[in-house]
Amino acid sequence: EPELSGEFAEIMNLSDKYATMQVRTNADTPKDAKVARNFGAQGIGLTRTEHMFFEVDRIKAMREMILADTVKGRKEALKELLPMQREDFEGIFEAMEGLPVTVRLLDPPLHEFVPHQLATQKDLADEMHISLEAVKNKVSELEEFNPMLGHRGCRLGITYPEITEMQARAIIEAALNLKAKGIVAKPEIMIPLIGTLAEFESQEKIIRGTANTVFEEYNDTIEYLVGTMIEIPRAALTADLIAQKAEFFSFGTNDLTQMAFGYSRDDAGKFLPIYIEKGILKVDPFEVLDQEGVGQLVKMGTEKGRSTKKELKVGICGEHGGEPSSVEFCYKTGMNYVSCSPFRVPIARIASAQAAIKSEK
Ligand code: PEP
Ligand code: MG
Repeated sequence: EPELSGEFAEIMNLSDKYATMQVRTNADTPKDAKVARNFGAQGIGLTRTEHMFFEVDRIKAMREMILADTVKGRKEALKELLPMQREDFEGIFEAMEGLPVTVRLLDPPLHEFVPHQLATQKDLADEMHISLEAVKNKVSELEEFNPMLGHRGCRLGITYPEITEMQARAIIEAALNLKAKGIVAKPEIMIPLIGTLAEFESQEKIIRGTANTVFEEYNDTIEYLVGTMIEIPRAALTADLIAQKAEFFSFGTNDLTQMAFGYSRDDAGKFLPIYIEKGILKVDPFEVLDQEGVGQLVKMGTEKGRSTKKELKVGICGEHGGEPSSVEFCYKTGMNYVSCSPFRVPIARIASAQAAIKSEK
């Protein structure tokens, strides 16, 4: 594992003397978490849980869940995922012992789980003792023209509350198991792609209900937060409402940039240069936060959120969280932390310190 040493470590220590805004990391594995911790990350600002579902046995469980027609069937399909998720979270919480860890509930578009191939459909029909016809009907029923603007984020948790319940249970059980071993875990459960307060409330209710059930089962409790990504423009516009319930905000500026510009983040490289060359933009807004536009949504979201909840914890977990000029903007906005990939943590720590020093002058 890489570590900071010598003069580099000295600069880092100096940075921490001046920095007031914290630097967390985006990490999905204990290994990444440890790397970032060695680089001085003060917590995890984003654990994306989606990659955890794409391993062979796990994606199969998800497919069975989608095809199950009853709540009981869906719960049954997800049952085998619970111990795996619990282990995922125990590893990450342990690596970040004592520091806050933001775990984001499942976010990818549903179509990534839908079995499109005939061979897979046949296998599933056999194993679940249902007709191939039934599998095909379900697949066509779930077809979407724009999956990235459709069945993803909290919308998945609304259609399939069993996913939210399973993940919330895995997070809380992991934290309680570690507590029994004397290890402090500080989970912050984050709901993705919120656009309305009602969406937040629907997921929050499941999370808190599940947590309370687990607390009773263990006859023990832990502290945890429930908060949200702000990554849809409507969430920034209605942040005062969402803050009535959310305990923290994390700006997802990848999606916020995509939706504010109307550029597909996956295809931007294909046509963005045209705009940049004509001088309309100076830089790639997916790399450097567009302060005039997207940044204003961030500013508005923070101000509106804090007009409802003065002490609202606010951070950023889009790629911009490790880019120095964007980090300075986040500081000026009054964020509590930025979160970036492990190898950008040192740069972000310096940028955070420089922003604080500049503002004193
Ligand atoms: C974002 O949208 O900025 C974000 C952090 O989430 P993801 O990149 O996983 O969509
Ligand atoms: Mg996003």
